[in-house]
Amino acid sequence: MIAKPKGTNDLYGKEAKIWKYVEEVIDSVMEKYHYNYMRTPIFEASELFHRGIGEATDIVTKETYDFKDRGDRKMTLRPEGTAGIVRSFIEHKMYGDSLPVKVYYNGTMYRYERPQAGRERELTQFGMEVLGSNDPLSDAEIISVAVNIYKMLGLKNIKVELNSLGDKESRDNYREALVNYFKPQLKDLCEDCNERITKNPLRILDCKIDAEKDIMKNAPTTIEYLNEESQKRFNQVKEYLDILEVEYEVNPKIVRGLDYYNHTVFEIKVDTEGVSNLALGGGGRYNGLVKQLDGPDTACIGFATGLDRVIMALQAQNVKVPIKDYLDCFIMYVNEEEKKYAIYLSQELRMAGFICDTEYTERGLKAQFKQADRLNSKYLIILNSEDLNNGQLKIKNNKTKEEELIEVEYLIYYLDEHLTEQDSFQIDDLMQESCHCDDCCSDDHE
Ligand code: AMP
Repeated sequence: MIAKPKGTNDLYGKEAKIWKYVEEVIDSVMEKYHYNYMRTPIFEASELFHRGIGEATDIVTKETYDFKDRGDRKMTLRPEGTAGIVRSFIEHKMYGDSLPVKVYYNGTMYRYERPQAGRERELTQFGMEVLGSNDPLSDAEIISVAVNIYKMLGLKNIKVELNSLGDKESRDNYREALVNYFKPQLKDLCEDCNERITKNPLRILDCKIDAEKDIMKNAPTTIEYLNEESQKRFNQVKEYLDILEVEYEVNPKIVRGLDYYNHTVFEIKVDTEGVSNLALGGGGRYNGLVKQLDGPDTACIGFATGLDRVIMALQAQNVKVPIKDYLDCFIMYVNEEEKKYAIYLSQELRMAGFICDTEYTERGLKAQFKQADRLNSKYLIILNSEDLNNGQLKIKNNKTKEEELIEVEYLIYYLDEHLTEQDSFQIDDLMQESCHCDDCCSDDHE
């Protein structure tokens, strides 16, 4: 048997419904905030990520899926979404449109990491980008949208950690201070950090190996090196967050791994019973990236969240997710004449907007009743040649078990009248398997 590749997942059944629900919430929130959906290729020229994310980052040095296509071109499966969006923004000259361009994406990313719970090799990220605005309002808005999405999904204990790297001058000064601080202590740092000191010293602060050492805890912080302009900007972001009623904590240790960040950087975490401080998402301002990729100077900010982690947190916090897992009606039949009518009727009902299914395996009526139960059908339409010859059909409410003989042409009005929106199911209800044994269930319908 061929198994799925390590670090990937098959999505099906109830979990697939939860994912769809989460994506629907995201789509609806994005619509309100006027962000447009955007899709870019899953693979791009390798150079895009080398130049975009940075040669010295773990993602590019250790984690990308690289391959040569049949035309000998170097390609990479995207490890994140921003670089592709920026490439597309430049290629389609979106900077000529009215700015800012507010977009969002939702798709699979690929990182060759060591798989564990919440750390996949094929992961799904939802992200948003605002291209062409340097206003601190964009920084505050993007953080508040992210928090609002988590809240709308029902997550609790969301924590926003905020920091500022400042402008180029502040960042350069900070970089120098870090190098001066770490250089005399290099022997206490891991091999990777010894390389980072020349290539990208900020990355040392993201090191997973040395994280707990005192040398890390006492390192200089970005805030101490913000020049006046950057400090003023940071204060504005915080003020706007207060207006938007977003709670946050300033964490001067957050630097974010990627080369392209400046000014605002943030991470969003969640506490669940099993895991505290689970990283849900993060982002920041990347004013230099468009230019770095040969576009015009454009101020941008973005955010990405791992949907695998969001779903994990929903499950860990036992959040009730309203998901649709029912039929409006199930059409039952026994003979060929009735089957032909079922074929016609199911199409009519579907076109009229009802969720409808019928029998496909020539089971007897008793088994069809059970199937209708399994599919959570609200109504059963039980076709019978004799009724049909009289222009009638039998319809049964599967909850109250009330049954009526109605005129065929009245069916759509009947369903419209009797089906109500409130009948959506909770995930918990679906988790309880209903009993389908012959002893206690079969007589119900007969
Ligand atoms: P990053 O692009 O590294 O800033 O990650 C943003 C978010 O994506 C993280 O906060 C996680 O929620 C999620 N994420 C990153 N890497 C993985 C992974 N390997 N598997 C699952 N989720 C991930």
